[in-house]
Amino acid sequence: MNLKENDKKYIAGTYGRFNLALVRGKGSLAYDENGKEYIDLGTGIAVNSFGIGDEEWKKAVESQLDSIAHASNLYYTEPCVNLAEMICEKTGMSKVFFGNSGAEANECAIKAARKWGLVNKGEGYSTIITLKNSFHGRTVTTLAATGQDGFHTDFGPFTEGFVYAGADNIPEVEKLAKENKCCAVMMELIQGEGGIYVLSKEFVNGVLEIAKKENLLVIIDEVQTGNGRTGELYAYMNYGFKPDIFTTAKGLGGGLPIGACVFGEKTADVLTPGSHGSTFGGNPAVCAGACSILSRIDAQLLDGVRKKSEYIVSQLQNAKGVESISGMGLMLGIKPVRPKAEIIEECMRNGVLVLSAKDKIRLLPALNIPDSLLEKGIEILKKALADY
Ligand SMILES: *Cc1c(COP(=O)(O)O)cnc(C)c1O
Repeated sequence: MNLKENDKKYIAGTYGRFNLALVRGKGSLAYDENGKEYIDLGTGIAVNSFGIGDEEWKKAVESQLDSIAHASNLYYTEPCVNLAEMICEKTGMSKVFFGNSGAEANECAIKAARKWGLVNKGEGYSTIITLKNSFHGRTVTTLAATGQDGFHTDFGPFTEGFVYAGADNIPEVEKLAKENKCCAVMMELIQGEGGIYVLSKEFVNGVLEIAKKENLLVIIDEVQTGNGRTGELYAYMNYGFKPDIFTTAKGLGGGLPIGACVFGEKTADVLTPGSHGSTFGGNPAVCAGACSILSRIDAQLLDGVRKKSEYIVSQLQNAKGVESISGMGLMLGIKPVRPKAEIIEECMRNGVLVLSAKDKIRLLPALNIPDSLLEKGIEILKKALADY
């Protein structure tokens, strides 16, 4: 009724929403208030890993709600332990801290890296090298970690101790590592908000070498790339190395808020009792759902992710109105000839939800989107891309 007016009146004006209210959904289909159907190629920004209202995930959450939804971290609860064990067994990492968002996971990684620097390298070794065009969150510290000038206005002073190197600029990383008292380098392997920019293997290997030489922790932000999105469980697995810390969020919860900071051997015991915490972190209902999601991201599912990705690329790479395609797995960026806003509008009119990132159309469909819906959605997108 007055939803849109009341939203404008009562919700803080931080979001430029599309003119669309979603009221329900099932899998890769969403419905608006008039019952109009949309094929969802955005999954609420890589959150609904198995689509909207996935039955197994819902059962896991509901059954946990029936026993205990929240206990606080003063007491032992099972789902967060099961989830942490699953993450560690699937990655070879050692320990997990749970929060509620990507920004919170990154805050934890930054705190741990600074303490590691202090203990292992000495007073003042707190600087973290991040990359230009990166995105690490919206808190004052994760904004400081974000290497985009546009984020560094209006809300200062920002947290000190971040320096920025150009993505794919190895000499710049080396220079910053030598000139500053650094404890870590932190990066996304595919810059998501930065326009689906994939870091080259040469650059990543170069950074790993510098990190080894200069004794820096390697922190990988897998908030968007994690949990099967790129065709591997975590994006770093495409590059053949293991980070000292990785963070993840979005798709891990399958639709409920969660963030995880995952520590390798070097950093497993840096955080000690009282040094960090989160009231909702490791919430039993959220973690029960996340267990259901993570347990199903297996070799067969990942194979499907890669096949669906190949299908999208094959359909769009030489299509009219497409300048280039970037990304991996089901995290793809399409650089269009036509203004992106027009394409998004036309897709929406024709029943398809797509996202954007910088100057690209961004696709983040469910990992299990049925081929028939994917084909239909891509056909509609293809028409919108060509319609100029
Ligand atoms: C979305 C995102 C974040 C922030 O996550 P929130 O849950 O919104 O705090 C951090 N890093 C990357 C790479 C992201 O894509």
